[in-house]
Amino acid sequence: MSDPITRLAPSPTGALHLGNARTFLLNHLLARRHGWRMLMRVEDLPGPRIKPHAAADMLEELAWLGLQWEQPVIYQSARRAAYDEALAKLARDGWAYPCTCSRKDVESAALAPHADDAAGAYPGACRGRYADAADARRQSGQDPAWRVRVEDAPVRVNDHVAGTVEFNLARLGGDFVIVRREGLAAYQLAVVVDDEAAGVNRIVRGDDLLDSAARQEHLRRLLGMTDPIEYWHLPLVVGPDGRRLAKRHGDTRLAWFRQHHATRERVLGLLGFWSGLLPRRRPAEMAELADVFDEARLPQTQVVYTRPDHDFLLTGREGN
Ligand code: GLU
Ligand code: ZN
Repeated sequence: MSDPITRLAPSPTGALHLGNARTFLLNHLLARRHGWRMLMRVEDLPGPRIKPHAAADMLEELAWLGLQWEQPVIYQSARRAAYDEALAKLARDGWAYPCTCSRKDVESAALAPHADDAAGAYPGACRGRYADAADARRQSGQDPAWRVRVEDAPVRVNDHVAGTVEFNLARLGGDFVIVRREGLAAYQLAVVVDDEAAGVNRIVRGDDLLDSAARQEHLRRLLGMTDPIEYWHLPLVVGPDGRRLAKRHGDTRLAWFRQHHATRERVLGLLGFWSGLLPRRRPAEMAELADVFDEARLPQTQVVYTRPDHDFLLTGREGN
């Protein structure tokens, strides 16, 4: 049996908000309860949404909250060679192929008549079209992205929160991008390669990534990775309108609340209340949350961020 190992994998696309903080806290509490090792991986592959300083700020904020992880921190921006190697294997085995379709090509194919529940799925236009990347460049005059073939068959994900769920990737988006046009690994490939290299076998994250788990299981199978991963996909924190926590719900960044004198104990208390660990909003220490942590009582439904949550952080005024 391999050691149980988990990781925090923040994307430095902005500051940490209360929703991410809750997911990371629960990952920490699960790891602490079960004695898992905890790694830190910063998902900083360059992209328009990556912000300078965000990575350092997020690490500082997570440490302020009382989360702990092993050194060294892993940065995806330094792992390019490993992603290239995985792509080379998938291409060699005939699973990955260059794709020069524009976003528009993919969308207009999806609008074609008789598109059924596979609507929006990549139609596979470049499957078998090019011999290799050089051929794609020659024929199309542009740098190709790389996609991986998926099958018209269910991929199963066993999740500790959602139960056993099956996804048919052919209907759910179709062959997906694993390397972007600029030559950078896409999220799905990078996660699989990094988790395997670090021995990660426990993944805790938001349930917006549940279908990604199916894509990742597909890639893991193609790459010959056999150590099973246990998943916990947690329901997200949403605003009163039912949409995932974001700017439209006001400033929910941890940094903003800290600037406005919210204490760590209040933040932990609110996150604990949101996680079914405390019966009402009140300040709490990490040690207390760890004591009362009960995996069986994790909320199975979304948490709604409301005005009393905001007021509690700023004033310490308690409420149900
Ligand atoms: N970096 C991703 C995020 O912040 C999480 C990726 C993962 O846990 O697989 O949403
Ligand atoms: Zn294509």
